[in-house]
Amino acid sequence: MDFRTDLTFDYGTADQVSPLIRRVIAQNPGPFTFTGTGTYIVGHGEVAVIDPGPADNDHILALMAALEGETVSHILITHTHLDHSPAAAALQNLTGAETYGFGPHGAGKLMQGIVVEEGGDMDFVPDIKLKGGETLSGDKWTLEAIYTPGHTSNHLCFALKEEAAVFTGDHIMGWSTTVIAPPDGDMSAYLNSLALLVQRDDAVYWPTHGPCIDTPKDFASSLIAHRHAREQDILNALKDGRSTIAEMVPAIYKDLDPSLYPAAGLSVFAHLIHLKEKNIIVSAGEFDMSADFKLS
Ligand SMILES: [Zn+2]
Repeated sequence: MDFRTDLTFDYGTADQVSPLIRRVIAQNPGPFTFTGTGTYIVGHGEVAVIDPGPADNDHILALMAALEGETVSHILITHTHLDHSPAAAALQNLTGAETYGFGPHGAGKLMQGIVVEEGGDMDFVPDIKLKGGETLSGDKWTLEAIYTPGHTSNHLCFALKEEAAVFTGDHIMGWSTTVIAPPDGDMSAYLNSLALLVQRDDAVYWPTHGPCIDTPKDFASSLIAHRHAREQDILNALKDGRSTIAEMVPAIYKDLDPSLYPAAGLSVFAHLIHLKEKNIIVSAGEFDMSADFKLS
């Protein structure tokens, strides 16, 4: 993968990154957030805010400073992780704008009868639920929701028609692959959601973390290829007699900091679920993270 980590910015400052798009980055850097959450402001005069970010006072103040003189008409949420949606409540109190998203945390899995309770912002419930294909518009901007489950079951991307741009949330990021952590994370859904973007003709992706991606189709295609290669690594590990996730992770992620092994283990588990769905592998006993897996 050809990842990019070059990003010049100052925390708390709104950068005009395209004619219609400004970005304010929250000071919550980390192994999963890179330099922090990028909150996007779309338009001028009447604006939409995408992913207000973590419940961080300094970030909310910086956002309000950037929004001085603007009317916020929409607060859009790509998904309900704690670095994306919690500031929606404060922003709504300050602006009166309605919130939009696919649904509360786990909403996509709930449709399949699966209850997901961990790892998300359980407080956020959108005022208005969006389905893929629905459009919202404001002053000289049009945003279309694209339903892209995988990273979470309620993940939306938003396409800005006027700039052939897509706000990809955590579905596609330029600095790293995304985390697919079951039960809410779903590898099969993620691969389908990548294929959905490959079919489109977009000019640029604006992820929530990291720099923009200006070769969108190629980048989304290479993410699919990357996951297929990872799947092959797992099949090879199984053939080599590594039957547990604990044995597979150090063999597959050779350069990874061991503190990130639990996250890598979840990703391997997501692949194993996908391989089970394709009837390629089975487990001895219960199919869970501590199981012994083998080729079927
Ligand atoms: Zn996320």
